[in-house]
Formats: sequence, structure tokens, C-alpha cells
Amino acid sequence: MAVTGRTPQSSPTVAILGAGVSGLCMAIQLKKAGIDSFTLFEKSEKVGGTWYENVYPGAACDVPSHFYCYSFEPNPDWSHKFSGQAEIREYLERTAHKYGIVPHIRFGTEIAAASFDEHAGRWRLRTTRGEEIAADVLVSGTGQLNRPLVPDLPGLAEFEGRQFHSARWDHGCDLAGKNVVVVGNGASAIQFIPKLAAVAKQVTILQRSANWVVPRGDYAYSERAKRFFRRFPALARLYRWYFYWQLEKNFMAFAGEGFWARFFQKGASLYLRASIPDPELRRKLTPDYRVGCKRILIDDDFYPSLMRPNVAVETHPIQQIERDGVRTADGELHPADVLVLATGFQATSFLAPIQIEGLGGKKLEHAWQGGAEAHLGLTVAGFPNFFMMYGPNTNLGHNSIIFMIECQVRYAVQCVLEIARHGLAWLDVRSDVMASFNADVQRELARTAWAAGCKSWYKTAAGKVTNNWSSFTVAYWWRTRRPDFSKFNAVPRRS
Ligand code: NAP
Repeated sequence: MAVTGRTPQSSPTVAILGAGVSGLCMAIQLKKAGIDSFTLFEKSEKVGGTWYENVYPGAACDVPSHFYCYSFEPNPDWSHKFSGQAEIREYLERTAHKYGIVPHIRFGTEIAAASFDEHAGRWRLRTTRGEEIAADVLVSGTGQLNRPLVPDLPGLAEFEGRQFHSARWDHGCDLAGKNVVVVGNGASAIQFIPKLAAVAKQVTILQRSANWVVPRGDYAYSERAKRFFRRFPALARLYRWYFYWQLEKNFMAFAGEGFWARFFQKGASLYLRASIPDPELRRKLTPDYRVGCKRILIDDDFYPSLMRPNVAVETHPIQQIERDGVRTADGELHPADVLVLATGFQATSFLAPIQIEGLGGKKLEHAWQGGAEAHLGLTVAGFPNFFMMYGPNTNLGHNSIIFMIECQVRYAVQCVLEIARHGLAWLDVRSDVMASFNADVQRELARTAWAAGCKSWYKTAAGKVTNNWSSFTVAYWWRTRRPDFSKFNAVPRRS
């Protein structure tokens, strides 16, 4: 049994799950706070998390790059307003090296289970290979979108062509001149469909529901602009904050059904009308729910790609996957050499399949039977010394998730320091505090677009919004800037 050691005088040992945006941020800030006793467990062979795994053609972020990066590590060299996957991954890799995080990472190591040993006041972790590891504090940085959702489509196993999920793109599969059927038309699909359409013989998009799409307005930064950002970091920072407030104001469109919601929806309708002259196609692409209920898609190339003669949007439901294509409910067979499942992620089950057990052997999946919840998306009552990054109700529909992650890291690091300072065995958020926080969040969410009548990955099958934050991000920053330790049960370490 490999146990990370701890003496009463030393810093708490911290196990961080994942070396993506959250895990790296946590590690860097722990280091800056003087805590070096941490290990990141990463199932892949490289850092980057979602930006390592999602390598489909056209993968990019639709938050402006100068704001989609750590506040403490600005990058004057972003090539575009919205950077691509490779550039973001390289940024993360570079940052991990710069802050000395790489030696702390155990690559190719996946944690299968974690249980809190009440007697020792420590987490006992088990890897998928059966190795046991102990740590005082557990931090999850596994994200909300890391497990692909492969739908149980009838006949899927009988398909004789190549098939893969968008988050596991098969670059060995040559798509040139092929008939490709794409299931889904979410944020991933709309980025790769224009690339596919340029090489494939025929692309058929099987759309279950339409999405609101708004233009992206991407542009490249000239060498001169990059020099400017390098030379005047204060102005580059101002530019970053310009993006922040520009995005932050968009929450007003999701907060209710007032002027801003109507304004946003009108803008998206006008964009659809201007981009798609064919009224029949436009009808298919017009959503039947309020803007923002599902994630708004931001793209310049998707609508134009639908105008190509080799691209078709099919809205009849899938009836059966056959050996050589997909049959829809109208009886038509859509021939397919390749089937791409752009069907999203198992977003509402959060940390699953990791088995997490807290005080008294309480299982996290049981605590979350009615839908995941936490205090500030960070801590769960009965699961001491456990901090989630990008946990329940911290996703956004309008701003950069890195902003939220930095708030969470700041909060969690202060908790780790509190544990160290007072020699605590554990800190456990009070259940009344967590319950009242979640009642407030759900009350606020009920007014937002996310709770409106549509199915989305933001909510459970029963309709509870478990993924999204209910307000402006500035409100989240305010609430997380300093932990209120009176809201925790603090248990001293037995000497
Ligand atoms: P997604 O938004 O969940 O989209 C999944 C798509 O598959 C939807 O069109 C869905 O239809 C369809 N689908 C799922 N199951 C189906 C079934 N059984 N039959 C037919 N259609 C089915 O997934 P995603 O596109 O991978 O994006 C997930 C999230 O990742 C995004 O919302 C975003 O937060 C993030 N992301 C961001 C970027 C970016 O920054 N640009 C890019 C990619 C992803 P319904 O709508 O009817 O459910």
C-alpha cells in the first residue's frame, strides 16, 4: 500500500483527481500557498483534460481566449479571438511546466474509489489497478463533461461501417468521399460539421431538437497586436476584463423573460433568417423553446455549411441503425460509411463512476439520488475534506468556466490552509447550510431560461437543474471569496 505520509507538523496531503484546467489550477495555487504535498492523478498520458480528449476537427473554445485562460497566466500570443483545441492544450501544458506541476502528476492513473477513514481522518483512494493511496484532502477536477454519452440506439451494434463518439474522434478514419451520418447537433457537432462537409461525399445530420445559434465573429491577432499585449500587460488585462463584462451582461438574457431575453432571441432569429434563405430548412432549424434553455451555440460556419448541396438536416426520429445506414421514422434509409455520435456527455452524474464514501460509509451516489448538489458547488455535507472543482450548479451558459474554477480553487486552498493551521482532522460543511444554499439556488434557477421547457444536459431526467449556476458570476465570486468557517463542522485531529 503506497501511503502519502503526514506528520502532525507537515502540510496536509492533497490528492487531486484530474490534470485538466481545474486540477492544474488547484495544484498551482496550492504551491503558491506553500503546500507542496499534493499529487494529481490523471487517467490520460498528458495534461489538458477536456482539451486533451476532444480533438475533433474544428474543436475550439467559444469564450474569447484572453478570458479563457488563468488570470495569473495571461497569454499575449493567442492566435485568434477564439483559439483552437491544440493551442489551448499547449497553453495548459506550458503552464503546468512553468509552475513545476508536472513532477506531481501520476499519468495513466485512474481513481476508481475514495472512502473517508473517519478514524484516521484521511481519504483512502483506490486506483483502477487496485493500488491504495491515502491523502488528507481530496479535490476533484474531473469536470462535468468527461464521460461521453453513447445512446442506446436500436441496432447500433449491427452497423458495419466505422462509428465513434465526437469526444473520441478516430483520426485514422478517412472521411474523404464518404457518406457520413452525424447523430446530434450540439456545440461539438456544429464545430466539426463544416470541416466534414468540406471533404465528405454526403453529410446527414440527424437532429432531434434545433438549437439557438449566434454568430461568433472570430478574428486573428496580428503580430503587432501580440507585441502590444506583451508590451502593455496592464492594457491586456483591461482587454480581458472587457470580455468578462461583455459576457457577464448576457446573464440578463437568461435570468428572466424580460427585455434582454426577447432581445437575444430576436437577434438569434434574425441571424437564422439572414443565414438560411430556404424556408423549409429554416423551419427545421427554429427551436421551439426559449433562448438559453439549451446551451446557445456560437459559430460562424455552421449555418453556411448547411447550405451546401452535400449536407442534409433530417428531423425524423431515428428508428433503427442498420448495417449500412440509419433508418428514420419516415422509412428512409440514410446510407452511412461512417457514423459519428455527437451525442454529448453524461453530465448530471458528475463524479460517477468513481465510488465516493463519506462519514459512516455514506455513498455520494445515494446522497445525490434526487440530483447532485453541494454547498457553492464545492463541498457536500458528510464528505469531509472533499472539494469539487466545477461541481454541481457551477456551470455557466454565459461566461468563462475558468473564472468559476479560480473562485473554487481560491476557496478550497483557504480550507486546506485552515486544516493545516489548526491541525484539523477534517472540515465538513454543515448539512443545514448546504440545504439552505441549495433551496436558494433552486428558487433562483426556477426563474431562469435553464428551467424552461426543454431537455438539456443542464438538468436531470426529473427536470432538476443540477449543472448551472443561478446568477451572475460576480455573485459567485462574492460568495466564494472567503470561506465562512462557522458553516463547517471542524474536527480536531486526535493527537
Ligand atoms: P450536447 O450539447 O449535449 O449535444 C448532444 C446532441 O446529441 C444534441 O443535439 C442531442 O439532441 C443529441 N442526442 C443525444 N442523444 C440522442 C439520441 N439518443 N438521439 C438523437 N439525438 C441525440 O453535446 P456536445 O455537443 O458534445 O456539447 C456538450 C457541451 O460541451 C456543450 O454544451 C458545451 O458546454 C461543451 N462544448 C463547448 C464547446 C465550445 O466551447 N465551443 C465545444 C464543444 C462542446 P437533443 O438536443 O434533442 O438532446
